[in-house]
Amino acid sequence: TRYVIVMGTVMSGLGKGIFASSMAKLMQDKGLRVAPIKLEGYLNIDSGTLNPFRHGEVFVLDDGMECDMDLGTYERMLDKDLSSANFSTSGQIYSSVLRKERHGDYLGRDVQMIPHVTGEVKLKLRRLAMASEADIVFVEIGGTAGDLENAFYIEAMRELAYEEGPGSCCFVGLTYILEPQALGEQKSKAAQLGIKQLMQMGIQPDIVACRASNPVSEQARQKISVFSNVPYERVFSMHDCPSIYTVPAMLRDCGIDFEVIRLLGIEDRIDLRAER
Ligand code: ADP
Repeated sequence: TRYVIVMGTVMSGLGKGIFASSMAKLMQDKGLRVAPIKLEGYLNIDSGTLNPFRHGEVFVLDDGMECDMDLGTYERMLDKDLSSANFSTSGQIYSSVLRKERHGDYLGRDVQMIPHVTGEVKLKLRRLAMASEADIVFVEIGGTAGDLENAFYIEAMRELAYEEGPGSCCFVGLTYILEPQALGEQKSKAAQLGIKQLMQMGIQPDIVACRASNPVSEQARQKISVFSNVPYERVFSMHDCPSIYTVPAMLRDCGIDFEVIRLLGIEDRIDLRAER
């Protein structure tokens, strides 16, 4: 199993869910088996107690797991029913660690963020990979890099990539290109700082998705490429479109699907006849 790990920078609400589900859809169209998972930073055990006016409507999965609308996006995009295996919160991870601690599973060791909490995150991902027999597991990390509450997820992903070895994980950093009205041009500095935050946490992105109101200029993409060590062809524009259902076609048109396939070294597994 390979992993595509999607993380946000600069601000939340950039469309991590839309990107991850669209990319998963493109991989599914190539005959690959995919399984998504969303990792939420909050301490609630599920989204059922969240005020819909603050967080948006709750989405209920077949096994009763209450989560957010992103899971609905995955279900619609992939035409697949999901379950609690596809959703976790910090609350679930910590509960599981504390349950094991009371049960004596840690054999007298002090229970720590590393390796026990990060280990629990990796366990959840590997269980999903085994149960779904997916070629690619798509991991979406809620919140943005730099949040205290999701830092252990990012560390867990760094460990996962190290343990699984080169070519096993593809890191995608979502960032935002500002275009202040008074200036009338796109500015990439905030986007660069966002990516830098990921790099400070030990994550070198393989792909940078630039959200913006308008198509991102060559100059802004060039700058981000140089400052984030990501080749220019892997820095792409994911600008606002009238419908999110056109995002998969937008990603395919800029060839980012094949960049992911090359990065993961799975060219031999795809079946282009399956592509619609
Ligand atoms: P995140 O998971 O990063 O919080 P979401 O995936 O929930 O973000 O997306 C946030 C909002 O942005 C959603 O309302 C989504 O429909 C919208 N959105 C995402 N990508 C695009 C795009 N390329 N064009 C227009 N709207 C988008």
